[in-house]
Amino acid sequence: MTRATASPPGLRPDSRLQFLPGVGPARAVHFERLGLLTVEQLLRHYPRTWLDARRFVSVRELTPGTLLTVVGAVRHAAALRTRGGRTDFTASVADATGTLACYFYGQPFLARTLKPGTRVVVSGEVDPLERRMVNPLFEVVEGDLESLLHAGRLVPVHALTRGLTARGMRAAVRRALDLVGPRVADPVPAAARGGTGMASLAEALEAIHFPADEATRERARAHLAFEELFLLQTVLELRRRVLAEQGRGLSTAGPGRLAQQAIAALPWSLTDDQRQALDEIVADLKAPRPMHRLLIGDVGSGKTVVALLAALHVVEAGHQAAFMAPTEILARQHAATLTRLAAPAGVAVAALTGATPAAERRTLAARLLAREPMLVVGTHALLEEKVALPALGLAVVDEQHRFGVGQRAALAQKGALPDVLVLTATPIPRTLALAHFGDLEVSTLRARPAGRGRLVTRLAPEEKFPQVLEFMARELAAGRQAFIVVPAIEEGGRDGAKAAEAEYRRLAQHPLLAPFRLGLLHGRLKAEAKQAVMEGFAAGEVRAVVTTTVIEVGVDVPNATLMVIENADRFGLSQLHQLRGRVGRGPHRSVCVVIPGPGATAPARARLTELTRTDDGFALAETDLRTRGPGEPWGTRQSGVPRMRLADLARDEDLLLAARAAARALVAADPRLADPAHARLKEVLLSDYREPLVLALAG
Ligand code: ADP
Ligand code: MG
Repeated sequence: MTRATASPPGLRPDSRLQFLPGVGPARAVHFERLGLLTVEQLLRHYPRTWLDARRFVSVRELTPGTLLTVVGAVRHAAALRTRGGRTDFTASVADATGTLACYFYGQPFLARTLKPGTRVVVSGEVDPLERRMVNPLFEVVEGDLESLLHAGRLVPVHALTRGLTARGMRAAVRRALDLVGPRVADPVPAAARGGTGMASLAEALEAIHFPADEATRERARAHLAFEELFLLQTVLELRRRVLAEQGRGLSTAGPGRLAQQAIAALPWSLTDDQRQALDEIVADLKAPRPMHRLLIGDVGSGKTVVALLAALHVVEAGHQAAFMAPTEILARQHAATLTRLAAPAGVAVAALTGATPAAERRTLAARLLAREPMLVVGTHALLEEKVALPALGLAVVDEQHRFGVGQRAALAQKGALPDVLVLTATPIPRTLALAHFGDLEVSTLRARPAGRGRLVTRLAPEEKFPQVLEFMARELAAGRQAFIVVPAIEEGGRDGAKAAEAEYRRLAQHPLLAPFRLGLLHGRLKAEAKQAVMEGFAAGEVRAVVTTTVIEVGVDVPNATLMVIENADRFGLSQLHQLRGRVGRGPHRSVCVVIPGPGATAPARARLTELTRTDDGFALAETDLRTRGPGEPWGTRQSGVPRMRLADLARDEDLLLAARAAARALVAADPRLADPAHARLKEVLLSDYREPLVLALAG
């Protein structure tokens, strides 16, 4: 294609895309569906990947199986009507050594472009049987081969949508680069950028879309990834400053009399790790700056009681503490556990979940609003509902999977700037921690409390299911209880709920299990139904539950000694480890049986074998991180961290640290972003992070 020379008058980075030559109002609608409204947004629509079509060969040298490029002239070209009624297009391309057949499905209009005699570059893989290229990349060449966009280079592949073609996208990006690329303002002030990346934003944008080679592309990626990380770190840093400025400056921890009373009533003593973690937390509570601490401990390591004791310090100091659990079941269970643990200290525990009746809810909201010192347990509903928490001193987030910067901000909006304690069994890689929280402290519970029965994990092939059931019947007959876990993953149209229901029916009718009462748990059940089953199970009346992963976190029934996990290959190791932590909580020996599904691959089976060999949850989490990436708990998707498009938190630690240092220095020097050199930064932050905290600060 030819490059536009003159910019249409007034075209700017923030101009609507319809004004970009070649787009127009009709096609702009399609771009809009990708969220691309302005010319700059199009430039920020980075390629998903790049095809390496740089190996030029002669037609005679073409070999099947690799992406190769030839330069030649179109010989014959013809539209073909297929029996199915579609019209395809064929063209042969010849160079001095031979002729290559090209076949294009359903693109008769190519006849207008690929006319006989036209000089073209064609990139594709030769089909070994038919000796032709199907739907190759191609480009008509008029001048030299330097300015190719669609073939014979590192070809960018952009996300598309209906109504947009890859070629149309590339051409539009090319035009945008030519017309406004150099005028896109860089949100990263020059002083903040270290030596990473490229000389200018314009150069980076050019090279991310149309890189000359891999090294250049990587430099462009680093440049733009730094920008993403820098923006996020600047927000975190601004927020940290607001929290510090507005910090209560008063202690949210009492002397510890209530905690002592609760400890004295425990049937066991705290482990050294638990004591130390509590000391660390209490020290943070007493400090004026807001705490953000992660309490990491393997399943069953006893995080709950540590958090409760911290909460008692807060209540003692006249504030409120909130426990947030990820599910209703857990919230209720926590309410029961905490009520029992807090009773000796004379502290009442209130529960606020989706099932709390309206009248009760109103009373509770009034007490919270009146700043009555108390402990409240709930789901994330606590964050979402219109409950004011003006006296919230401590927010405990249990088994957090979805608590990140966004939720912290949500709490702040509710008038609370509490200390935050996140309980988790999943170690978080340092880079992810920084990206999520900017800064956070970690306490770790390594030793498991004494007095636990042994937990062994066995891998059983599907054929052994009858023996597994026999074993289960024996355990149940001996008074124990069991979990049967079914993955909540779609399979052939059956979702987790249906799979659990089917398995429940099958097992309930099985002669071996006939004497025992079974229960069914899955996410589609009404809250009351779930609660009834959970309570029945906790009371020992329901002897075995067939369940999806709604039981994954936190359920504590020490009499449960057997867990059978079906289609276990569908789960990550950390998740399996979490699951099996539901057994082995009492004095009895416990068994977890993992059964791979029929389609399990050899590597998946090998991972399951690893699970049988180690009970070190940290080691398993690291294996998961290596083999499967950060996954749900700490991936950025669910957690309020904006999507990183080019930054890769698994490998960009250096960039992240550099971005963080730069953000800290900048905010320290110019906390209100008043410096004109920071005007673009401020503008971008205000439009991308619509958040009162940042707005207040920057405003
Ligand atoms: P998790 O860290 O997985 O949330 P929990 O807090 O649910 O673990 O604790 C698991 C079980 O261990 C509970 O039944 C709890 O009462 C018990 N527990 C906690 N601390 C101790 C301890 N120091 N000694 C003995 N049992 C403990
Ligand atoms: Mg727990």
